[in-house]
Order: sequence, then structure tokens, then C-alpha cells
Amino acid sequence: MRIDLHTHSTVSDGTLSPAEVIAAAAAAELDVVALTDHDNLAGWSEAAAAARSYGLEFVPGVELSCRWYGVEPSISLHLLGYWVDAGHAGLQAELARVREGREQRAQKMVDLMRADGIDVTWAEVQEYAAGGTVGRPHLAQALIRRGLVSTVSEAFAPSMLGARWRVPKPDIDVFRGLDLIRDAGGVSVFAHPQASSRGRIVPESLIVEMAAHGLDGLEVDHEDHTPEQRARVRALADRLGLVATGSSDFHGANKPTPIGANLTAPDAFAALRAAAHTRAGGFSR
Ligand SMILES: [Zn+2]
Ligand SMILES: [Zn+2]
Repeated sequence: MRIDLHTHSTVSDGTLSPAEVIAAAAAAELDVVALTDHDNLAGWSEAAAAARSYGLEFVPGVELSCRWYGVEPSISLHLLGYWVDAGHAGLQAELARVREGREQRAQKMVDLMRADGIDVTWAEVQEYAAGGTVGRPHLAQALIRRGLVSTVSEAFAPSMLGARWRVPKPDIDVFRGLDLIRDAGGVSVFAHPQASSRGRIVPESLIVEMAAHGLDGLEVDHEDHTPEQRARVRALADRLGLVATGSSDFHGANKPTPIGANLTAPDAFAALRAAAHTRAGGFSR
């Protein structure tokens, strides 16, 4: 069984539509794939329909933009939620709030870029977002088109989208994120917990606290983790009784990592699914 539990579509900052993500999963001979767009569940029905046509198991997921306020300045972190109830009012309201804030933030970043003499417009970056929420990769596209950088990661340099034009976005308190996922009947996995290339990482003591607060798993095998970091996260998962997952965090052409680059073991997947089952009473949703 080949299982990839972390992918993005055009609903957030990937470059493939939800159906195309599933087609890519089928081409990579995956048996199970989760769609985990940032703060958005809008890709689920299209992906589920595509998965049925390919005979793949689809896992409805989401990646919540969270923040730990236990230090100053606070640290951003990502929580994956699987099998949450899309109709849960509290979750819906929180996702809408975060998406709205994200959009306002991207508009402010466009203003900062324009102030620095880059003739990018809001209409242009909306086009790159293809109906999804405008995020930094779409702003990066504008820089690539102008020949200012050649890759998305170059555009994330501190002199550009990494700091100079960066505007903070409203995130979800990490403990509230855990509560929301659990209240909505889902299971939670801390995404890329040691990915220091993305910014500061949280201390192990926070992960211990998160586990006590209902966290179900840790993403161990992720492209942004070195072999040493993977070993450390796996040992921590074992110690805390958390499920260890592996995934590609596929973003289409926005990142070099192919779908299925890292996989979740079948027994780990079964443990997550069993936890969701006991929590929610089935997967009718
Ligand atoms: Zn992430
Ligand atoms: Zn992701």
C-alpha cells in the first residue's frame, strides 16, 4: 500500500486542480491520497469523485495555519486535520476568518511590492491563484514572469517575499486548532515539525503539551527534514504514543517534490483511521 497524506491543489497554493492531484497520485501508483489544502476544504468533492474513478482511497484533509503564542515573537506551525466534518460550524467559521485574513494580507503584500517599483497588480496574482486563495507562491509567480527570480524559493528570500514584503497573517492558536479538529470529529498530525528551513521551530516541550492536548500524530518523513531530524521526530512519536506519518507535501510545479516522495506506513494509516472512526462514528461525510 502506497499512502501519501499531504498534498495541495489550486484550492490553496498547488498548481494542479484537485482532480489533477488525484490523477498524479494514480500515475504515481498511490493507493491512498489525502488532499490537505491550506485552511480550505473546497477541493474535497472534486478530488473524491476523481479518486472514485481511479479506484483510489481519498482522505479528506486540511492544513491549518496555526501559531504558538507561548514565546515572543510567536511561532507559526501547521496542523494537518483528517476526516473533519466539513459541516462543523466552528471549524467553518475559523477557516473563513483565516482565509479572509490571508486575502487581505496578500493585497497588502502587493501594495508593498508596488511601492518598491514592481508593477504587479491584484488582478494578475488572482489569475495565478486560479480561483483559489492568493498566497505567496502566486506573488512569486509575478516575480518569475518579470525575470526577477527564476524559482519560487528564490522569491522567498528575505529581500523579497521572505521578509521585505512579508505581512503577518492571522493564524489559529495551536491549541484551538487541536480542539477544532477533534470537535469536528477529525484526527490531527503536526506537519513538518522540524522544518527549520521554513523558520523557527517549536521546542520539543510544546510537542509534549500538544500530545497531552489530543494531538494524534507527527509528520516524520517530509522533504524538509534531514535524516537526523526524521530520526528525532520518529523517536519522539514513539515516546509520546503518536502516529508517525510520511508525505510529499506535493504542490505541483510550485515545489520540486513529486507526489508520493514520502509515504505513510499502512499500520500508521490504519491507526489514524481507527482514531477518526471512534471519534466521529463513520465516514458518511
Ligand atoms: Zn505546511
Ligand atoms: Zn503543506
